[in-house]
Amino acid sequence: MLAPYPTLHDVIEEAHKLGSVKVYGRSVEGRALTAFCVPGGGAEDGRPALVVTAAIHGLEHVGVAVAMEVLRRGPIPGADLWVCPVLNPDAYVETQRTDGAASVAALRRNANGVDLNRNFPLPWGARPSRMPGAGSSDPASATFRGTAPLSEPETHHLAQLLLELRPHCSLNLHSFMGTLICARVWRPGDWLGYRRLVRAFRRGQGGLLRYRRLGTPLLDVFTGELEDWQHHVLRCWGICVECFSLPETFWQHPRAPNPFWRFNPRDPGPVVARDAAGVRATLEASLQLPRPRLYPGAAHTLGAWDPPTPAAGRAHTPTRS
Ligand SMILES: [Zn+2]
Repeated sequence: MLAPYPTLHDVIEEAHKLGSVKVYGRSVEGRALTAFCVPGGGAEDGRPALVVTAAIHGLEHVGVAVAMEVLRRGPIPGADLWVCPVLNPDAYVETQRTDGAASVAALRRNANGVDLNRNFPLPWGARPSRMPGAGSSDPASATFRGTAPLSEPETHHLAQLLLELRPHCSLNLHSFMGTLICARVWRPGDWLGYRRLVRAFRRGQGGLLRYRRLGTPLLDVFTGELEDWQHHVLRCWGICVECFSLPETFWQHPRAPNPFWRFNPRDPGPVVARDAAGVRATLEASLQLPRPRLYPGAAHTLGAWDPPTPAAGRAHTPTRS
């Protein structure tokens, strides 16, 4: 049992009570891909969209718990809050089915074995990097990037949804070692914008276990991660939030009986309360910032962006129930 973490069914059932649903596609195994909207009130025209996503990696359930708490806390004035609680529902279900005891690769990737957070187009057609964790062309790797950008139904349909919403800011929730990983930028204005957002997150979190920003403008590379695509193609402030603080992770890690309990706190309550406050403070602070400007040459990426045929359209034999 993975209690206190809820099943996919329970997550979606609760989300239906908190916001209006949009089914934006189907996963490889045919599960609904869902986004839930809470409108912010006031004039509907031009109200910016703020997005929270979680579980692009199926076993990172604490991110889902944080996303649901963000949703529970209700509207954000002046903006439409959109929450996609489970981006990779097949792997979420597989994690629950196996009690989290399968390999990280099996529980992290989608049902085609693709790491969805390495499957987004690289800005300006950048070449894939060979740095560790930057994504792999080996189908056996836990970070297999797939056969082509947006080759997977989960990423293809999410990209379509985001192109429609054009969000102003997006926080993408993961789970490991409490860090904030901003989109890769090198213009001072963008760097400072993210600094303001990181400070807002930490203020919102409060206490001693606040997360630090990870990254430098020089050593980072494009890896096909969601936030880089959001920043450079959608002009959206994009941050990967690794929930579960470093001290708490290290305390639990050596005692974990399987991968699931290395990535998710036994008692999610304190992490969820702190991080939901941090997420909402960041989204609110982003409304004070202008949208990021495109980098020179990025228009090429937009112009060249051509949605591929979604993988959901092809014949598929379900391998799991
Ligand atoms: Zn992750």
